[in-house]
Amino acid sequence: MSSGLSVRQLQLQVENRIILKEFSLEVPHGEIHALMGPNGAGKSSLAKAMTGHPDYHILQGDIHFDGISIRDQAPDAISKLGIFLAFQHPLEIEGLSVANFIRSALQAHRNPQETFLATDFYAQLYHYMDALHLDRSFSSRALNVGFSGGEKKRCEVLQMLMLKPRFAILDEIDSGLDVDALKTVADGIHSLHKEQKMGALMITHYPRLLQYISPDRIHIVLNGKIVRSGSMELIEELEHGGYQSFSSL
Ligand code: ADP
Ligand code: MG
Repeated sequence: MSSGLSVRQLQLQVENRIILKEFSLEVPHGEIHALMGPNGAGKSSLAKAMTGHPDYHILQGDIHFDGISIRDQAPDAISKLGIFLAFQHPLEIEGLSVANFIRSALQAHRNPQETFLATDFYAQLYHYMDALHLDRSFSSRALNVGFSGGEKKRCEVLQMLMLKPRFAILDEIDSGLDVDALKTVADGIHSLHKEQKMGALMITHYPRLLQYISPDRIHIVLNGKIVRSGSMELIEELEHGGYQSFSSL
């Protein structure tokens, strides 16, 4: 089994509906791929199934990460393998601050014997918050509560930068971001990609993000299946004819 992410012949069910059928996708170690498709194509369902969401049932097929099956693994076990999901719609949690949330996530990933200094944690957190143009007061706000769309997205990216995953699934990280914020997010993804060969699956339906992070490969998903894979030339086709132009293939 090759290293990286491998989705083979996946059939995915949610609420008595088949969302994906015979869905296959390979993202070799350290590569950045884009998954594009219209609303309702099943992109977020795939992301949730890949991170162990209990409502998304894998009826057939399997998902491997670096040769390990994650099909029946719990979300925390999948996270410890190094897979991170930036949610399209992040949950709001009253009473849990951004800083405490990220700190507990980091602690859960570490060896309990390892010392973990609060000063080092905050130095890193503030470093990344500055890069994402987030005010210091942001770290003590309740997670996602009352955040603007752009703040929610930057908070997801902040978590990614702090956790330094081996593979990031970024579900519509570009929605609700202005061009400056988009560039900052792209810089964050680039830095982890360069420093530690982080791989990524960027889910989007707009080509805009791909101007800042050019992916190694682009996949178009329609009605629960990948109908085309290729490189940036697919973006031109998409801008010309929309997703319909891929439907007859
Ligand atoms: P995309 O992210 O590509 O827009 P989704 O994966 O969110 O698409 O949704 C694919 C289909 O699955 C949609 O028809 C959606 O209504 C349905 N779906 C997704 N999640 C659920 C759920 N938890 N319960 C019921 N239907 C769902
Ligand atoms: Mg979605």
